[in-house]
Amino acid sequence: MQDSKATKEWWRSFIEVDGLHSAERKRRSFSLLAMSAIAIVVFSVLLITNYQVYSNTLSITLFCGLVAVIINAYIYLQTKQLRGAGIGVALIILILCSLLVYTGGKDNTALYWIMFYPVVSYTMLGTRIGTTLSIAMLIVSTFFLYNPELIQANYGDTEKSRFLSGLMLVITFSFISEYFRDRSHQIITNITFNQKQKANTDTLTGLPNRRFIDTIFIPKVQQSSDAFIPLSIVLMDIDKFKNINDTYGHDVGDKALMHIAKLMQHQLRYSDIFARFGGEEFIALLPHASVRQGEQIAEKLRRCLEQHPLHLEDGREIQMTSSFGVAEIKNVNSFDLTIKAADEALYQAKNQGRNRVVCG
Ligand code: GH3
Ligand code: MG
Ligand code: MG
Repeated sequence: MQDSKATKEWWRSFIEVDGLHSAERKRRSFSLLAMSAIAIVVFSVLLITNYQVYSNTLSITLFCGLVAVIINAYIYLQTKQLRGAGIGVALIILILCSLLVYTGGKDNTALYWIMFYPVVSYTMLGTRIGTTLSIAMLIVSTFFLYNPELIQANYGDTEKSRFLSGLMLVITFSFISEYFRDRSHQIITNITFNQKQKANTDTLTGLPNRRFIDTIFIPKVQQSSDAFIPLSIVLMDIDKFKNINDTYGHDVGDKALMHIAKLMQHQLRYSDIFARFGGEEFIALLPHASVRQGEQIAEKLRRCLEQHPLHLEDGREIQMTSSFGVAEIKNVNSFDLTIKAADEALYQAKNQGRNRVVCG
């Protein structure tokens, strides 16, 4: 199999880099729940301890924020929509922080609270949304700080400039940290994926190997049987292959196996799997194909090989044939039995004179 985009896509439909994705999801989910819990505690404490000094508008807005964070967290726990819930809690906090800058909070200490915002939004939502929300926070704060006539709070000139410089530094370093963390995550995911693909690929022909059948394909069929069953298995064994090695040498034998792999793959659908089962034996796994359809496909493969000899560079031609055994999976837990049945059918095909298809 060539290392094309379509091939990668094909492998992606089978190989899941589960561990890494779920660790990343857990990190974001934990940040979201931690942020929601902290917001609930802080809003409640602020309301309980300061409601006498706060204006009615501030108290009501804080209370609405508290309820919104609780509802948002509840919806997240029900739906597990991580991105939506992350944006929800980040927007609620953005609105409340803006209001805090507007009012100044207790003793004009509002600006202290804003510094954490970029860190939280990058951690919960990643580089793109984190940057958008942090810049929004920066714009709102700058607008309020440099239009003092529009706000209730009263900030000193030095305080304003130090705060904005500090906020920009936090945004810059949160961005750098999140961007490179995300990149290393992508790199590790790609390395893991490529290693898995390599371990499940036959080095000579580029076809999936037997390990792929045992450790990826069979578990996948057992997991989602409707997507595959009825599934036919076609075992293919090249006739008198030893003679090719003996006559032309092992290198030419290798070329013959590569030729067969390419030829057979082109005869099958994208959803069919053609793998090297070992030595000069191959296996075709045909989803949604009964044993009769499997027989027809095996016959097509048989004729194709018979009609397409291997052409050597020196002009010589190597004519090859193959025998086939076909069986149908009746039950997702009976893979071993079905492969055995296909193997017995293949044995009969050999005994009956080779270059033929027998159904088990
Ligand atoms: P039959 O029709 O009964 O299947 O005869 P056969 O000669 O194909 O069967 P046998 O099992 O006796 O021989 C299989 C040969 O395939 C022997 C082995 O050297 C050769 N073979 C297996 N793997 C490779 C490989 O990767 N490269 C080459 N060149 N030959 C291989
Ligand atoms: Mg063999
Ligand atoms: Mg053979």
